[in-house]
Amino acid sequence: MKTLFTSEQIQARIQQLADQIDSDFADKHPIFLPVLNGSFRFASDLMHHIAIPAEMDFIKIKSYQGTDSNELEEVTGLDTSLRGRDVIIVEDIVDTGQTLTHLLEMLKAHEPSSIKVCSLLSKSAKHSHQIDYLGFDIEDHFVIGYGLDLDGKHREMNDICLA
Ligand code: 5GP
Repeated sequence: MKTLFTSEQIQARIQQLADQIDSDFADKHPIFLPVLNGSFRFASDLMHHIAIPAEMDFIKIKSYQGTDSNELEEVTGLDTSLRGRDVIIVEDIVDTGQTLTHLLEMLKAHEPSSIKVCSLLSKSAKHSHQIDYLGFDIEDHFVIGYGLDLDGKHREMNDICLA
């Protein structure tokens, strides 16, 4: 298995992202919304380095078949009101950007004051989203480890590897 990013590289980059968020939100009280399952490790390590007062609510994106056979998606697990809040979405990876498009649309309906996106990885050549806080830009490979799975496996790996 080829290692793309070692645990040390990941942790060093997360420290930089946390410093940037601390500085940008110095006088604010944002709410972090990690998207489960993939982002659980990233979110945990990110919060380890965040120094500003912050809140967190974990969400899941649930896909299901609609009556017209189009796949619909909904956000589950959101227990906190986002109205007037500064929201930071925490994602493991943005691939085609489709999930993020749906998520942004759904979260905007909650009338937050602002929405920023923090993603550990992005296949930026495949989508046109602006990632406000990005760990690493990667090529179009399927990657595993550090929370990212392949059929439910490999989330425990500390490095990020090519599958
Ligand atoms: P989207 O294409 O909507 O941006 O990504 C949807 C989801 O597919 C991601 O949140 C992630 O769960 C999964 N995904 C996309 N690319 C990869 C990858 O390289 N590795 C893993 N493990 N999951 C991926």
